Amino acid sequence: MLNNPSRRDFLQTCGTAAAATLVGASSAFSADSTGRSPQKRWFKGNLHMHNQWSDGKPLAPWAIDWYKTHGYDFVCPSDHNIFQSDELRFGGFGFNNQPADLAAFKGESSLWKVISPSAGWPKLTQRDVIETMEKFGTDTVRMITVGDQTYVRMTTFAELEEQFAEPDKFLMIPGYEQTGGCYNDQQVHMNFINVREVFPYIKSETPKEIFAQTFAKGQEVYDGQDYLFTADHPLWRYYDFSPKDLIALPQIRLFEVNNNSIDGRYEAHPEGWKPEEFWDVVNAHRAAHDQPLLLGMGSDDRHDYTIDAKAWSVVRAARLGVAELFSAIREGDFYASNGLDFEEIQFDGKSLSVKIDVREEGRYRIEFIGTKKDYDPSSQVVEVKAGSRNPARKIDVFSDSIGIVLDAVEGTEGSYTLKPEDLYVRAKIVKLGKELQSDWQSHPAAWSQPYR
Ligand SMILES: [Zn+2]
Ligand SMILES: [Zn+2]
Repeated sequence: MLNNPSRRDFLQTCGTAAAATLVGASSAFSADSTGRSPQKRWFKGNLHMHNQWSDGKPLAPWAIDWYKTHGYDFVCPSDHNIFQSDELRFGGFGFNNQPADLAAFKGESSLWKVISPSAGWPKLTQRDVIETMEKFGTDTVRMITVGDQTYVRMTTFAELEEQFAEPDKFLMIPGYEQTGGCYNDQQVHMNFINVREVFPYIKSETPKEIFAQTFAKGQEVYDGQDYLFTADHPLWRYYDFSPKDLIALPQIRLFEVNNNSIDGRYEAHPEGWKPEEFWDVVNAHRAAHDQPLLLGMGSDDRHDYTIDAKAWSVVRAARLGVAELFSAIREGDFYASNGLDFEEIQFDGKSLSVKIDVREEGRYRIEFIGTKKDYDPSSQVVEVKAGSRNPARKIDVFSDSIGIVLDAVEGTEGSYTLKPEDLYVRAKIVKLGKELQSDWQSHPAAWSQPYR
């Protein structure tokens, strides 16, 4: 299931030195010691989420347990600018509770957060603590009271792994979200997945500079480590970066086509791109210039766990292990979903064939989406003034010839054969209902990777 010869490029440009995974695309199909080829299967995961280590509502054990008990196979608790290590700390993203006297914390480790009498970002409340105690027992939350402040100890990644990870059942991957923005505060967030060391956020003039410098710094800091770099939530807060930024940086191979924390919070501009169109704009350019294509992930980026987790990624691998999952992700053998599943995605170099894993009666549609070689690559700028829900922005508006439906099938199986004039093709599956939203807001839906 190779999409193009980009795998080597990807490994070279994504900053990994994971020689072990560079053994050929079919490594996971190779025979095991019994001589049988291990069967590949789909693993569901979420590589972007928050808990009280930064500004998520629940304490970490409550959050991780939620995924483990809701059908997820792997997760990365990716808090803002922090890794859940055992270093003694009292401050983090948006808060600083440093006590005047550290005597009570002699010999202690990890991050401690004060229980706040009032709710609000990014506070820890009594309610959040009680929730975890109710689930795991009162002795599972360690607290120290100094004067009128009660400090709660955050559970470290190593402790969470000990508590929740199970071989072949549930995999925990370390990581964090680089969170910050330009000098003018345009936000640029990026996840480093499968790393345990955090470097300070690199601010700069433009999103492109931040991406480029952060990517390069990652290569330096995580040299020799097998990790992933993702460009997060392109539409958040409101057109904070442009497809042009990722066109300029072909080394960035992963982005979030579906980040459900932006859902409903910001409306796209009527003329502006949405995340799925963003994807096609970048890939039209990349395919036309024979560059490795941009791959789309689904993430819920949850902070408030009373909101549904409506986006995730499903990866095909022979085993639930970081090397196997990352190898599949780099090959594009995964899909983003907010409710539907593929049973099969096959690309033989010419034809993309997909089959929907039907779990609910209904009418389904498969859309094969791509861009033709004669597309119009030009763009125009629309200036949007600051409004009640949006900052002022200059939005790049692209041609309708990008990301068109090449073919559509009503049903649960279909295939599309690339024509000489096509640059690439990807499949999107939707369940037809009363209200069919477009782009990343289609729900329930799933998105295959692009192939060429
Ligand atoms: Zn973010
Ligand atoms: Zn986030």
